[in-house]
Amino acid sequence: MVQYIDLKSQYARLKDRIDGNIAAVLDSGQYVLGQAVKDFETEIGEYLNVRHAIGVSNGTDAIIMALLGLELTPKDAVFVPSFTYVATAEAILMGNATPVFVDVDEKTFNIDLADLEARIEAVKKAGKLTPRAVIAVDLFGQPADYTALGELAAAHDLFVIADAAQSIGGKSGNRMIGSLADCTTTSFYPTKPLGCYGDGGMIFTDNDRLAEIYRSIRAHGEGEHRYDVVRLGMNARLDSIQAAVLSAKLQIFEDELDARERVARIYDAHLKDVVTIPARVPDSRSAWAQYTVQADDRDALRAHLAEDNLVSMVFYAKPMHLQKAYEAHGEGVGSVPVSERLADRVLSLPMNPYLSEEDVHRVCERILDFYK
Ligand SMILES: *Cc1c(COP(=O)(O)O)cnc(C)c1O
Repeated sequence: MVQYIDLKSQYARLKDRIDGNIAAVLDSGQYVLGQAVKDFETEIGEYLNVRHAIGVSNGTDAIIMALLGLELTPKDAVFVPSFTYVATAEAILMGNATPVFVDVDEKTFNIDLADLEARIEAVKKAGKLTPRAVIAVDLFGQPADYTALGELAAAHDLFVIADAAQSIGGKSGNRMIGSLADCTTTSFYPTKPLGCYGDGGMIFTDNDRLAEIYRSIRAHGEGEHRYDVVRLGMNARLDSIQAAVLSAKLQIFEDELDARERVARIYDAHLKDVVTIPARVPDSRSAWAQYTVQADDRDALRAHLAEDNLVSMVFYAKPMHLQKAYEAHGEGVGSVPVSERLADRVLSLPMNPYLSEEDVHRVCERILDFYK
């Protein structure tokens, strides 16, 4: 059986370490935040070379917190790709601001900076909203172009949030994702490249003042003391057991990233003539949360794989500006065309560090068979 994501093999490999770490938390009597969370925050902060790593409840809350830190109002615009997971758009409304949907680059799946600039100008011209922030999503594991985005954001005085829920472990040049934006958020949901055994997330920044604000928001807006409430906050703390699991997994994470890259290379080599393989962002490393191709007759291909018990997934079948809950903030069909086209063409193939070469070849052969 080819596993789409294989958490059982990973647990078998790490069982002693994970069980030991969890037992230590149970013995400690500290179950929310506590020493295990502090230790993991230090370990991952050093790994990513970022000054502050703040453990939170999940990746969605991390984005909401990043926006609450800006004290926005519904008259403030936050730009976001339409081709993303719902959490990115949801967080903007939960953060009290208004989303403006932007298209993505057809090759990299990441925010299209020419389209972003056009939409910033359009918002300014319309005069109803004030552009305040942009959320870039490192979709499927590859970094957005934070150098060019940073310049565009500076020119328009926008705060840059990186939604790195799929890309922790990825790199841009020799810099790890985590310190490439004003604030970076991630998720440790079990199926993410670095996942725990429940919900978890993190918010990263090099800015001391912002870090203090995020730590306060994480605990109901506390100030100097626990019963001194200085801002609107949330209950957004990370559990100690989840942090203990993550500490164990972080130790083999680089090895797992190498294994994901090996899987991607086999897919690339075999599939490049029949589907559009994922374009590599130059001078970067993907965390390969997903290996996503663009395919003609996508749904029939998916059915052909399923007939042979091979699981594939569609991320994402409908862009945000066409979703019922968000359509009031969009301009309907045709308004974000690349996102709409990708929604009909993308297919994500089994991707995890524990796939054997034979597994990957089996998937490739089945796809080649479909286009024969
Ligand atoms: C998973 C994901 C999130 C949300 O993370 P949760 O921990 O599930 O809340 C946000 N953005 C993207 C791009 C994601 O893939």
